[in-house]
Amino acid sequence: MNLEVKHLCWSIEGKQILHDIHLQVSSGELVGLIGPNGSGKSSLLRCLYRVLKPDRGVITLNGKNIWHLSTREMAQTTAVVLQETSADFDFTVAEMVLMGRNPHQGLFDRETKKDHLIVLNALMQVGMNDFAERSFISLSGGEKQRVLIARAIAQQAQFLILDEPTNHLDIRYQLELLELVKGLGVTAIAALHDLNLAASYCDRIYVVHHGTITAVGTPQDLLQPSLIREVFGVGSTVETNPKNGKLHISFFLDTK
Ligand code: ADP
Ligand code: MG
Repeated sequence: MNLEVKHLCWSIEGKQILHDIHLQVSSGELVGLIGPNGSGKSSLLRCLYRVLKPDRGVITLNGKNIWHLSTREMAQTTAVVLQETSADFDFTVAEMVLMGRNPHQGLFDRETKKDHLIVLNALMQVGMNDFAERSFISLSGGEKQRVLIARAIAQQAQFLILDEPTNHLDIRYQLELLELVKGLGVTAIAALHDLNLAASYCDRIYVVHHGTITAVGTPQDLLQPSLIREVFGVGSTVETNPKNGKLHISFFLDTK
């Protein structure tokens, strides 16, 4: 699945929030979006999953304008995992994951044996098969996020959009979640506010600042103290972790 965004602009109440965004995600890539709060990451992702309609520009998946896809085609292609979601109704874990099968079922179809097998498999992939009958709202934040990933797996979408999926998770769950996403081998774009997580797991990173893309590159090329200062207004030391060869960044406030 190849995503391409060209000249994307979006405004609300007369205020332009996203300006001339260009972005591209190749098949199998995990691409990160980083940037300060309010820089436009969530708005950009909402455009990608069609909750917001851009004023200008085109978004294509495998060369097809996403606004020319039916809702069903869109749901078969794209899965979304947001920050910890609170379900309004008390579904079981298995029911939550089964919802991922909706885009593959006819309007009045009952779920089939195959759907149940896919659900079970998805729960196994995220290590939550023992929780199938548990109530979703009774789960911890990390467990809920894993169930939402299982739903995305059951949806069999080849393009995954994640908006700060690791918020409020313990460090172990943060790492596990991104390992899991990486292991799926799907094309993915994720807004991440932890630069160390982004550095460890993303193939490439886009910097969103004041509603536009100001830089793009591999973590190694991109995440330099000068850029971090410019975007986040803090000093930093960037080192390579000898254990895994990944970048490790520590931050400090400049003292006057
Ligand atoms: P981020 O996810 O990077 O924190 P957002 O995309 O949530 O940034 O927000 C970018 C800017 O757009 C913010 O200034 C926010 O207040 C504004 N914004 C986003 N959605 C709306 C909306 N529905 N109405 C008004 N302003 C909005
Ligand atoms: Mg956001």
